Amino acid sequence: MAGLSKGQIDALEAAFGHAVAYRQGLGDRPVGPRIDPLEATRRLGGALSEQGRGAVDVINAMVAEADAGLLQTASPRFFAYVAGASHPVGVAADLLCSAWGQISAYAATTPSVVAMENAVCDWVIGLLGLPEASGAGIVTGATMANSVAVMAARHALLRREGWDVEARGLYGAPEIAVVIGAEAHSATAAALRHAGLGAERVHRVATDDQGRMRADDLARVMAGLSGPILVILQAGHVNSGAFDPYSALITSARAKRAWVHVDGAFGLWLRAVPALAGRLAGVDGADSWAVDLHKWLNAPYDAGMVIVRDRSALVGAMSAHGDYLPERGAIANPSDSVPELARRARGVPSYAILQHLGRRGLREMIARHCRLAEDARAALSGIDGLCVMSEASSNQVAFRCGEGAAGDTATDAVLARVQGKGRVYPSHGIWRGRHIIRVSICGHATGEADVAALIADVGEAWAGVQREMETA
Ligand SMILES: *Cc1c(COP(=O)(O)O)cnc(C)c1O
Repeated sequence: MAGLSKGQIDALEAAFGHAVAYRQGLGDRPVGPRIDPLEATRRLGGALSEQGRGAVDVINAMVAEADAGLLQTASPRFFAYVAGASHPVGVAADLLCSAWGQISAYAATTPSVVAMENAVCDWVIGLLGLPEASGAGIVTGATMANSVAVMAARHALLRREGWDVEARGLYGAPEIAVVIGAEAHSATAAALRHAGLGAERVHRVATDDQGRMRADDLARVMAGLSGPILVILQAGHVNSGAFDPYSALITSARAKRAWVHVDGAFGLWLRAVPALAGRLAGVDGADSWAVDLHKWLNAPYDAGMVIVRDRSALVGAMSAHGDYLPERGAIANPSDSVPELARRARGVPSYAILQHLGRRGLREMIARHCRLAEDARAALSGIDGLCVMSEASSNQVAFRCGEGAAGDTATDAVLARVQGKGRVYPSHGIWRGRHIIRVSICGHATGEADVAALIADVGEAWAGVQREMETA
């Protein structure tokens, strides 16, 4: 039987060499991309050749042509959005995942990767302190995890009304009232669209100045509702990192037999740190949760997890076999808990990262990021003219430069200078009608020196922008 050709071996080894060189060289690169999408398209698009090309040549050319258009999310000085830094141990496992090429739909056919993915589900449920018997599925990210959770909610809520939504669809079904916070992440709107519930057919609940859902307003909204109800909460506001007051909210939702879902893309990870878990007290009382693996756990893209207290609701919504549950003790099949059939074993990198960090390493990483966010808040607050809008909640810091409309312009100018300098990379946002700069700290290697570089570059840019404004 033929093994690999010389060219194929060279391509694999070249790719590995490029991967190591890229990661080793991160410190010498600007964090942002150096070319725009048009230029990248020019370099990497074009007509497909008739002839084909040698394996190693393809890989080398790809690396050379892609290089300038990479965003250095793996850099410890990448502070934009909420992005994990693709932990090298996860990358190593991911390479093997591709090499093994497992289908990862059924335990019987690909038992080893399914065992690893099931272990990741159990470990994460345990680390987050969620109900042990929950069902879980590893999907592409929190967007998909939210969508799957909403479909599980739809299944359970309508089943209670005697309606089989998987068989009959939503035509003529009892209406589900959806209750959501005024500052919910856009991914939850996508989930409502995907599930056919409508992104705008929702009851919005007022939030406080950190984006937390207000319990008094939820009580007011709930009082006007009857029938099947889905309540969507959030763990980790994308600008403030703040948490909803779960105990009060869930009590009021439960009084109306609502299904409670929590979008906890990054924030749920605080539950892994005993000293911080209290900030999310009561969150384990919900029915379903969405959490990312590619954010705070630093799994390479893409991976997230949906967790559902009543496993039969998850399986009922996802399995092609209906809500038949494998016998207790039988090994769960990924295909019963996720939308896909054939799929990448995208839990495998997380398996390696969790084993590498251990409980303590994970705890220390999350706690360190929260501490660094506090340091950043304090330092930014100390710079004259900057206004930090986020309180200490988790790993997100939102601030702006100056006041009013002029402040919006100044904030954008400061961000452009900071990103343009290329040493650190925070991102923009709009919050409560004002432009902000958002700092997210979740890279596994991010430390004090990286945050110090961020503070220095922001301070320098703000001084420059102020000088410019004075002379203008
Ligand atoms: C990032 C994020 C999402 C979307 O997650 P993806 O992994 O990008 O799909 C959803 N909700 C919140 C709160 C987030 O921070």
